[in-house]
Amino acid sequence: MDGMTPNDLSHVVDADRAHVWHHLVQHKPFENGEPRIIVEGKGMRVWDQHGKEHIDAVSGGVWTVNVGYGRESIANAVRDQILKMNFFGGTVGTIPGALYAEKLIGKMPGMTRVYYANSGSEANEKAFKMVRQISHKRYGGKKSKILYRDRDYHGSTLATMSAGGQDERNAQYGPFAPGFIRVPHCMEYRKHEQDGAPDENYGVWAADQIEEVILREGADTIGALCLEPVTAGGGVITPPEGYWDRVQEICKKYEILLHIDEVVCGVGRTGTWFGYQQYGIKPDFVTMAKGVASGYAAISCCVTSEAVFDLFKDDTTDPMNYFRDISTFGGCTAGPAAALENMRIIEDEDLLANTVAMGDHMVNNLWALSERHKVIGDVRGKGLFVGAELVTDRATKDPMHEKMVGQVVADCMQQGVIIGATNRSIPTKNNTLCFSPALIATKDDINQITEALDGALTRVFG
Ligand code: PMP
Repeated sequence: MDGMTPNDLSHVVDADRAHVWHHLVQHKPFENGEPRIIVEGKGMRVWDQHGKEHIDAVSGGVWTVNVGYGRESIANAVRDQILKMNFFGGTVGTIPGALYAEKLIGKMPGMTRVYYANSGSEANEKAFKMVRQISHKRYGGKKSKILYRDRDYHGSTLATMSAGGQDERNAQYGPFAPGFIRVPHCMEYRKHEQDGAPDENYGVWAADQIEEVILREGADTIGALCLEPVTAGGGVITPPEGYWDRVQEICKKYEILLHIDEVVCGVGRTGTWFGYQQYGIKPDFVTMAKGVASGYAAISCCVTSEAVFDLFKDDTTDPMNYFRDISTFGGCTAGPAAALENMRIIEDEDLLANTVAMGDHMVNNLWALSERHKVIGDVRGKGLFVGAELVTDRATKDPMHEKMVGQVVADCMQQGVIIGATNRSIPTKNNTLCFSPALIATKDDINQITEALDGALTRVFG
C-alpha cells in the first residue's frame, strides 16, 4: 500500500470510526467491529487495510466500476482535462461535455440530447421535472402523474423516493411528493403472490396491470411511466416474455412518456450499451449514472429524444418556455472526460461481448450450484447483472431469512469474495444474492466467485 504505514492505516480506521456516517448501516453494532477500508484496487480486485485481497463481484459494492479499478488512461484523461479546464457551469459548454454527448448519442439511436447532472437520483429528478413541465405546457398541468413500479428504485432524494417501489427503504421518510402512482411488479418467479396472475402469458398480464392503474387514475392525468429495464435493487428482476411490447403499446395508446432508468443497466452492464436495447424499447427519457464513468468521477445524464427537447423551445415568446433547471456540478469536466475514456475502453476491449459470454457462464455456474444447494430457488440475469434468489422451500418459494443470506455474504467476504444481497422490499427483504462483476471478468474470476459461494452455502446450510 503505497506510502501508508500500518500506523497511518490504523489512524485512518480510527478517523473513520469516529467521524464517518456510513451508508445503509445501523451504526451501533457496526462500531463494535472494525470498519473495512478499501485501500487499493486493480482490475477486478481490491485490497483492504490489512492488505487482504478480495475479488469484487459487485463492481464497487453498487454496480458501478464497469471497466475495473486502476485504469491509468482514465486517470490521465481526467488529469489532463482538469488542469486545462476543470469546471464551468450554467449555460456554457465544455469540450468533454460536447464530445461525450456526441459519442453517447451515437450509441442511442432515436435519442439526441444529453442533460448533465451528478447522481442517478438527480438525473431521474431532471426527467420528472421535464415531464411535469410538459404537462403544464401541453395539458394545462393535468397530465402530471408519474407511474413507477413496485420493487423498482429510482433514488434517495424525496422526489425519487416518492417514485420508490421498495417499502423498506421508504419507511419513516414520508410524507412523499404527490403525483407518483405505483403499478404492480412483473416478477415472474413471485407471480404466485399476485392475485389473478395467469400460468401462461404472464408478461402481457403484468403489463396489463399497468393499464388498469392508468384507467383507474384517468389516462388524461398520467404524464409518464418510469421503469428499470431490469430491476436492480428490487431483486434482479428480468422482464417476462411479452412484457415490454405490451408496455410500449399501452404508453402509445394513452400518450404516456416512457422514462427508462438505466442507472444500473446502462453502459454495458447487460451486454448491450443500454438495457432497454435488449427489449426493443423506444424511450422518451433515459437516465444513467453508475457505469457512465465507472466511478472515476461523479456524472449522470438525463438523455431525451429530440421530440421531448423540441417541446422546450417551440414557443420563444413564452418566457417560461425553457427548462429552468441547473445542476452546478453538471459543469464539471472530470465526469465527461472520464466517461469518454470509459466508453473507449469498453469498445476497444470488446467488453460488451465479454459481458454476454461471462454473464452466461455465471448463470450456468449458478444453476449448476442449484443442483447441490436446494436453497437456490431461482437464477436470473442479463449480462453481468445476475441474481440468485434464496428460499427456504422451493415449492412454497418462501424467502430465505435475511440473516442467513447475510451469513452467506459474510462467508464469501471471509474467503475474499465480495458479493451483494438485494431485493429490498417487504416481505422478501434481501434474499437475492447479487453478482455484478466488472465487465472485464474472466472465466477464472467467475469460477472463483461461484466456488466461494459453493463453500459458503455448504457452511451456512449444510
Ligand atoms: N436508479 C437505480 C435503478 C438505482 O439502482 C440507483 C442507485 N442504486 C439510483 C437510481 C440512484 O442513484 P444514485 O445513488 O446515484 O442517486
